[in-house]
Amino acid sequence: MSELKYLFGPAPSRRLGRSLGINIVPAKICSLDCLYCEVGRTKKAVMQRKPYYKAGDILKEFKENFNKFEDLCDVVTVTGAGEPTLNSELDNIITGIKEITDKPCAILTNTTTIHIKEVYESLLKFDIVVPSLDAVTDSIFKAVNLPEKSIDTENIISGLEKFSKEYKGKLFIEILFCKNINDSKEHIEKLIKVLENIKCTKVQLGTIHRPPAYSTAYPVTDEFLLDTAKIFLKNNIPAEVTGGFSSVYKSSASLNLHDLIHALLKMRPCTLLDMSGVFGKSESEIKESIDILIKENKIKAEYYNSDTYYTTA
Ligand code: SF4
Repeated sequence: MSELKYLFGPAPSRRLGRSLGINIVPAKICSLDCLYCEVGRTKKAVMQRKPYYKAGDILKEFKENFNKFEDLCDVVTVTGAGEPTLNSELDNIITGIKEITDKPCAILTNTTTIHIKEVYESLLKFDIVVPSLDAVTDSIFKAVNLPEKSIDTENIISGLEKFSKEYKGKLFIEILFCKNINDSKEHIEKLIKVLENIKCTKVQLGTIHRPPAYSTAYPVTDEFLLDTAKIFLKNNIPAEVTGGFSSVYKSSASLNLHDLIHALLKMRPCTLLDMSGVFGKSESEIKESIDILIKENKIKAEYYNSDTYYTTA
């Protein structure tokens, strides 16, 4: 299999299971610079929508390769090494994907563009939308997500409220907590007030699991996440704590493990154990490919929370 530019995975997704990713914006075109970002820091946060990658090129690669992945993925996920809704050809992309496959199609978004009419209408076409909502006050939003300067939390909240009432698919709101930043009792009360007006399938609570963009970002504890989920549930908000990876990749002779590992690590750092679970191979088999990729200077090892993560060099 020649190296793919836009497709990666099936990747381990804590939310969606076996997810074949489609990367529709290059690193690191994003409107935020989240402390916990796994892709690294955003040099300059932007809100400008452009065809950063062209719909025609993405769909060509998807069409030519999807049959190799079809039995190995549960969902096709539009994402990016940044914010996918900044690709101004998003509508052509979702329309094109739907012409090629009936698999559910998800999108991960940081929600900063949901008030833009074209984005809003394209999001309605997805089967699953996963918007982030780490903060509901300007000061906490600035502290955790370091937004582009024109972004207003009110636009995000009102856009998400409106969207949730019209949308017919599954809406999984994701909140990522960073210790001492967005985890105060007062902020949780404010989050609950906002979430009471949003109709969603689930609110998924998580924390930092991989090396973050800023070393000042620390994870909250599992106890905190469980207690917070209980508080949300008491307030009739369908919360859950996101756990480990939920799926196992079935190996296939038509796929080259070396390239798949490289494609996966371009999108997120992983441990040997993560990759062993995803690809259904022993850690020693994974390690053989890892050693070659390190020799080729394509990836490197990083240490975080007593674990070794592999990421692109
Ligand atoms: S986590 Fe997502 S939204 Fe935040 S900086 Fe990284 S790519 Fe952008």
